[in-house]
Amino acid sequence: MSKYKGKKVLVVGLGISGVAVARFMVKQGARVTLTDMKQKTELQEYVNQLGELKVEFELGKHNPQTFRESELIVVSPGVPLNIKPLDEAREAGVQITSEVDLAAQGFQEPMIAITGTNGKTTVTTLIGEMFKADNKPAYVGGNIGKPLLDHLTDGSRADVIVAELSSFQIEASQKVVPAVAVFTNVEPDHLDRYPSYEAYVDAKKKLLRACDRNTYVVLNYDNEVTRKFAEENIGKLMWFTKKDPLKEGGGFAEHFNGAYYNASQKKIFTRIFGKEETYDVSQVKVYGEHNKENFMAAICAARVLNVSPQAIQSVLNSFRGVEHRLEFVRKKDGVFFFNDSKATNPQSMLKALSSFPANPIILIAGGKDKNFDFSPLQETVRQRVKILILMGEAKEKMNRAIGDFTETFMVGTFEEGVLLAFQKSRNGDIILLSPGCASFDMFKNYEERGEYFKKLVHSL
Ligand code: ADP
Repeated sequence: MSKYKGKKVLVVGLGISGVAVARFMVKQGARVTLTDMKQKTELQEYVNQLGELKVEFELGKHNPQTFRESELIVVSPGVPLNIKPLDEAREAGVQITSEVDLAAQGFQEPMIAITGTNGKTTVTTLIGEMFKADNKPAYVGGNIGKPLLDHLTDGSRADVIVAELSSFQIEASQKVVPAVAVFTNVEPDHLDRYPSYEAYVDAKKKLLRACDRNTYVVLNYDNEVTRKFAEENIGKLMWFTKKDPLKEGGGFAEHFNGAYYNASQKKIFTRIFGKEETYDVSQVKVYGEHNKENFMAAICAARVLNVSPQAIQSVLNSFRGVEHRLEFVRKKDGVFFFNDSKATNPQSMLKALSSFPANPIILIAGGKDKNFDFSPLQETVRQRVKILILMGEAKEKMNRAIGDFTETFMVGTFEEGVLLAFQKSRNGDIILLSPGCASFDMFKNYEERGEYFKKLVHSL
């Protein structure tokens, strides 16, 4: 019998994750209440998804009494953990958990957990593809959109769980012990929700602390923050790097375990617990040098869980990237359009700008500011950006930080921005939407922003 049978469970936050928890708990025989500060009209889509499911709703408010009288509270990743009713429930001794924890406790399969500031979805997708190419069923979920818990609710079977975890999901988790943990990079992001950059780094580090001696820990050697994670790692360390291990000194080469990308040879060399292999990346179809980092991270994770080198190589050759990440949209009158709507911080913008070595770029940027410093972009904007078009809430701030480094225009609407970019373009130019900001000032999410951009581009 399920340990949740008859239990009073409160789900805080009605979104993708909240729906998954409600479905799971009802199936386990729990008595489920869902609460959200948003009104029912704003949440209709999720209410509809629950259909006939027997649950109670407390919407448009949190009732502290319901919190205190619950036997278990499951908090969605969008909800801060320090809101008052949660504090009170904690004080009253109510157990508080998360969807990821519930899932992790039920999984029979080994879990590959992927986190970092940028590249999570790309690496998660790559790893899933590699397992599938080797005829090993993988359940790919987490922050990538498919709740981890659905795998348990639906009773599906897989060889491996590939889980993208955001810092919010990690923060709320105690029970995750991954077989493999991948850290792509850690850069400033979500500064609107964390009190400081250190607090954000700390949230990511919580996944490192969740690893045990048997966990394969895959770290980016070229990223300052994740490189330092090695000092606190107790698992089996693997690096990925664009720096030649032979030239790094300090015994790095002898003890090197992981992957190294050699740009001039267009090859990734791996040494994984004594076994050396080479992967060819001269045929890859995705844009962006940063994808070499993503490839290396994915190879380490897949290979250490015995995906064959042939399957890995076939994915490297065929991978077309993930929508809204440096996605090629169309060529019109000799001008190339790229949709990078998922670039929601300055670091991913920088990577996008460095992805097209030769062509002049017309950059469309701006959106909702997350408290970023854009000045690190100055030099790249000066060198690479022919015209800068700024929009959204952050445009004044971005203009002050980088507007003087190229010809810059501020526009009132998204449509105006795209039209102006096209008017100003010449044969061979690249028009790149890489906002460096969140989308919530003008759109529901980055997907809607990217879709709208593509629609405008196709209508030109
Ligand atoms: P995440 O899931 O962590 O947000 P994505 O794979 O969705 O990462 O990519 C988000 C943005 O970051 C896109 O603009 C993408 O081009 C860029 N990006 C992808 N991989 C990396 C990387 N390794 N380093 C920096 N930026 C990256």
